[in-house]
Amino acid sequence: MLPLEARRWRHIEAHVHAILRSFAYEEVQLPLLEFTELFARGVGEATDIVEKEMYTLADRDGDSLSLRPEGTASCVRALQEHGLLYNQTQRVFYSGPMFRYEKPQKGRYRQFYQIGAEAFGFDGPDVDAELIVMGAQFWQALGISERVYLEINTLGSGGAREAYRQALVDFLTPLAAELDEDSQRRLHTNPMRILDSKNEHTQSLLVDAPRLPDFVDADSQRHFTELRSLLDDFDVAYRINPNLVRGLDYYTHTVFEWLTDDLGAQGAVCAGGRYNGLVERLGGKATAAAGFAMGLDRVALLHEVVHQNAPSEAVDVYLCYGGEALMSAAQQAGVRLRAELSKQAAEPLKLRVHMGGGSFKKQLKRANASGAKWAILLGAEELNNNELTLKNLVDGSQQTLSEAALLMQLLQPNN
Ligand code: ATP
Ligand code: MG
Repeated sequence: MLPLEARRWRHIEAHVHAILRSFAYEEVQLPLLEFTELFARGVGEATDIVEKEMYTLADRDGDSLSLRPEGTASCVRALQEHGLLYNQTQRVFYSGPMFRYEKPQKGRYRQFYQIGAEAFGFDGPDVDAELIVMGAQFWQALGISERVYLEINTLGSGGAREAYRQALVDFLTPLAAELDEDSQRRLHTNPMRILDSKNEHTQSLLVDAPRLPDFVDADSQRHFTELRSLLDDFDVAYRINPNLVRGLDYYTHTVFEWLTDDLGAQGAVCAGGRYNGLVERLGGKATAAAGFAMGLDRVALLHEVVHQNAPSEAVDVYLCYGGEALMSAAQQAGVRLRAELSKQAAEPLKLRVHMGGGSFKKQLKRANASGAKWAILLGAEELNNNELTLKNLVDGSQQTLSEAALLMQLLQPNN
C-alpha cells in the first residue's frame, strides 16, 4: 500500500470508525490465525470459503490453523470464550486483513480488508435497521451514496427454511445435469447457494424455481415488514431481491447487500444479515445476532471513481514565529492549539510549527508551499498581549485575536 493509496484508506477507515463509534459500537481486535475447525463450523463446510478459499497450514504440533477468511466466527469465538455473550447485549466492530485463495482481479484479492460490525442479544428488526442505516451513513460521509444501492431479503427461519430448501432440491434434481459444476455439487451440500450462481444457464433454469418469499413464515414476514417500515422512516431506499441468500442454516430472517455497478463483477461492497443460529452452532447458548462486513478494497476503488485525487494530507495551519527567542512559545502554542482542535473533530486540522528559524517572510513562503490555508504569526507583541495573528493564505486577510477567538475562526464549518 503506497502513500497515496494508504492515505485514501485511512480517510475511509477514519470516517467508518467514527460512525461506528458514534453508534456506540466498540472495537474488538481479533487474531489473524484461528483453528481451522472454527471456520469449518462457523462459516460452514459447504461454502466456497471453506471448500476452496482458505489458507490452511499445520503448525508444529500438527494442529490445523487457517488465516482468517472473515471476522464473524472469530468475533463470536472471542466473546463467547470470555463470557461476553451470555445474558447481555454487545455491539462491536473489527477491522483488518482477511485472506482467501481466490482468482485475483480488480476488487477481488487474496489479502483484502474488511470492517465488520456485529450486534448480539437483539432479536428485533430495529437492530437490522441500525446496521443498514450505519452503512447508509458511511456512503454519505464518503460522498459515494449516489453509487451504491441496497438490496434486502428475508430467509425466514426454522421449518419454513427447511421446506423451501426441500422444494428447491425437488425442483432442481431433474435438471441436475444442466446445472454448472459448482451448482451440481451444491445441490447436495448447500442448495440455496445455487440461487447465487453467476452462471447464466443456471440462472435461466431458476426462472421457474420455487420462490423463497412464498415459503417465509409469518414471524419472519412480520420482522421483514417492520424492517421495511423502519427503512422507509429513515429514508433508506432498497430493492427486494428474492434471490439474495446466504445459504447457511444459521442465517435467519434479514439478509442485505450494498452493491455498486461501477466495479464490474465485484459489485458487493458490504454484505450482512441476521444469524441467530451461529452462536449456538459454535457452542454457546442460542443468541440473537446480526452484522455486516464491508470490503474496504472495493469501497476505496469506488471512492476513487468519485474522488480521483486522494484526500489531501496537506498541512492546514502553519505557525510562524518572530525569532529564536519565541521558538519555545511557538511550540507550546502549537501543542495547545492541536489539543483543542482534536477535541472538536474526528479528523482535526493539521497544524505544523515552523522549524529552523528565519524571517517571517521566509517562514510564510514555507507556509504557502505546505499547502496550508492558514498561517499563524507569533511575534513579540502578540506574545506580550496573549494574542496570535491569523492570516488567511488564500485571500491574504489577517486579524490579531485571542487564542480562543482564533480557534473559533479555524473551526468554522467551511474551513
Ligand atoms: P463475493 O460474492 O464478491 O465473493 P462474498 O459473498 O464472498 O463476496 P462476504 O464474505 O460477504 O463476500 O464479505 C463481505 C464483503 O467483503 C464483500 O461484500 C466484499 O465487499 C468484500 N470481499 C469479499 N471477498 C473479497 C475479496 N476476495 N477481495 C476484496 N473484497 C472482498
Ligand atoms: Mg466470495
